[in-house]
Amino acid sequence: MIRTLLMATAAVAVAITPVAAAAPKGTSAAASATLPASNPFAKASTLPFQAPDFSRIKDSDYLPALLAGMAQQKREVTAIANNPATPTFDNTVAAMERSGLLLERAGLAFSAVNGANTNDTLQATDTKTAPLFAAHNDFIYLNAKLFQRFKYLNDHQAELNLNPEQAKLLDVYYKQFVHAGAQLPPAKQAELKTINKRLSTLQTSFTQKLLAAAKAGALHVNDAAALGGLSEQQMAAAQQAAKDRKVDGYVLPLQNTTQQPALSDLTSHATRQQLMDASLNRAEHGDANDTRATISEIAQLRAQKAALFGVDNFADYNLYDQMAKDRATAVGFLARLAPPVAAKERQEWSDIVALAKSQGANFQPTAADWNFYSEQIRKQRYALNQDDLKPYFEIHKVLTDGVFFAANQLYGITFQERHDLPTWNPDMLTYEVFDADGKPMGLMYFDYWKRDNKSGGAWMSNLVNQSYLRGTQPVIYNVANFTKPAPGQPALISFDDVTTMFHEFGHALHGLFAAQTYPTLSGTSVARDFVEFPSQFNENWALDPKVLPHYAVNYKTGATIPPDLVKKILAARTFNQGYDQGEALEAARLDLDWHSLPASAPRQDVDKFEAEALANGGFDTKDVPPRYRSSYFLHIWSNGYSASYYAYAWTRMLAQDAFAWFEKNGGLTRANGQRFRNMVLSRGNTEDLAEMYRGFVGHDPDINPYLQYYGLTGGAAANTTPPPMPATAVPPPPPAAAPTPKKGERG
Ligand SMILES: [Zn+2]
Repeated sequence: MIRTLLMATAAVAVAITPVAAAAPKGTSAAASATLPASNPFAKASTLPFQAPDFSRIKDSDYLPALLAGMAQQKREVTAIANNPATPTFDNTVAAMERSGLLLERAGLAFSAVNGANTNDTLQATDTKTAPLFAAHNDFIYLNAKLFQRFKYLNDHQAELNLNPEQAKLLDVYYKQFVHAGAQLPPAKQAELKTINKRLSTLQTSFTQKLLAAAKAGALHVNDAAALGGLSEQQMAAAQQAAKDRKVDGYVLPLQNTTQQPALSDLTSHATRQQLMDASLNRAEHGDANDTRATISEIAQLRAQKAALFGVDNFADYNLYDQMAKDRATAVGFLARLAPPVAAKERQEWSDIVALAKSQGANFQPTAADWNFYSEQIRKQRYALNQDDLKPYFEIHKVLTDGVFFAANQLYGITFQERHDLPTWNPDMLTYEVFDADGKPMGLMYFDYWKRDNKSGGAWMSNLVNQSYLRGTQPVIYNVANFTKPAPGQPALISFDDVTTMFHEFGHALHGLFAAQTYPTLSGTSVARDFVEFPSQFNENWALDPKVLPHYAVNYKTGATIPPDLVKKILAARTFNQGYDQGEALEAARLDLDWHSLPASAPRQDVDKFEAEALANGGFDTKDVPPRYRSSYFLHIWSNGYSASYYAYAWTRMLAQDAFAWFEKNGGLTRANGQRFRNMVLSRGNTEDLAEMYRGFVGHDPDINPYLQYYGLTGGAAANTTPPPMPATAVPPPPPAAAPTPKKGERG
């Protein structure tokens, strides 16, 4: 996944849905602080590439730097808005891009350490600044004077003689103002503010209720016998969880998704069913934690908000800046996937029922039993033992002879380790990256090992953004949560971890190759349904016949990974994908249906609405419940993914289709890599993304490589006509800033 700041990274605030609520009072006083020169953020770092000097930065330095950064940018923005001169591109648009340097400097460093190496001070800083960032965003996008300048420029664009990147930048700003409501008449603006305020309250309330509901929904078991099948370690964890809650016996806490890890291991059908029911109904107990009234109101208000903008539904309102561009395209994408996915779901289900019967099951299997049996089938069919694989994946070898090697073969870039640059943890690796012509192009940090003070999952982000305007080159980091070896032991990782390394480095390449003048359009600052394309694409090189033998070498014997193990890895990839793809796509469909309601629709009965949406989606939802039910679908109600959950599958479609282009054209070659770099990886958000994509592969995205990748080709004939892509360019705005779900959890 990728992380961007939910704040003004450049001059432009990057919130997906600019909130048009009034800025909270009292923020200006807090933000008027000036920064003492002794604060390490007061000036740009003098280290190479302006890398933050973590040897000098103290935890207590972030808060004053962030507050002073907001105050500084407010002064800059106010000066731009009040400029008596006629608006020009330079005194308005470029001026915005030049503003906010302190805020960006401190904000990027803060986001990095708070995510990967947090503590109480950093968390307190986060709590304190989060609402201030929202208000800061409003300060920019609800500034009527500032909007008038952008409107003037937009109206006079023909006379401005802008180059394509400048034209795109102006358009991105202008549309973001409009999207925030700057163009609405005063009465509608007032209505919008009321709706936004209520939505903000409801979203916070949803998050808090869900947190409490998930905690309360944990399965409490008194009798150890009911937990047969769990390992000693799992039992100890369950006992500890009970102790933490001051109850007797055992507690199985709920994870965010419908499926729960213990369902693969529990031998008792009754316990599995109890755990599954606890998961499905966690937020539907009719108590204070029940989220249903909250979400039906959110859905209604979002529909009403879209109507204020003259748009039929919230999905169309929210997808204006995405590659898919509208609801119909996203729904059409899911509809084409439904038949082959449903066929695979049913085929897998029949295997499960047959296995349960053969083992004398005296119950009718349900979704609660799926993982228990599918794990047995996986072991029978693939006999893929992680312990057999791990000796071939020594992390440094994977990084230098796998990840770096593939990038060198494709793009000509080289890497040199550096030991002189301070990091936030001594285990981190630092590399300087050189272009094919030997010119330095940026820095890469890797923070791979799991720690208690690190958020889960894996992600990429920038410490310094690339921009010709500012003369900055990218400083990028990848974070993961791999299990650290005991001292003196080799650092062996799983193939899943290997895939994660390639994935996150795919994001890094998107950032490293950025070649933009304006930071707002730079590198990974693209739409939600595009940003996971370069990363998922890059995963493919892990198994490339030229790359794999180069890094997958037994750390003891020096032997290359044997072909039968490779075959097993490949075969295992399509296993259970009916379920895995199905549950995610069903959730995506649920998301789009909730955000397809017209403003005139009454508040919905959540369970009835959900049942109908799932029945109409075309998937086998009886045996495969959605990855998230409506009542605990955090992504769409408060995490910035409303009407956008389809983006995960969409970008996988792009990744596999683009990889198919490589395979057709000779695979891993410098020429192919250069073309991809020139046409996609170096382009940031400077072009219409659908056109950028078409330009590279020569056609609209084709779903077939995706279906083949997951083995979804055996079912009923799907209509595999390429999805219709609107021909008109609707440019996407600045970075997708939602906290995106972790890679490896597949969202
Ligand atoms: Zn990613």
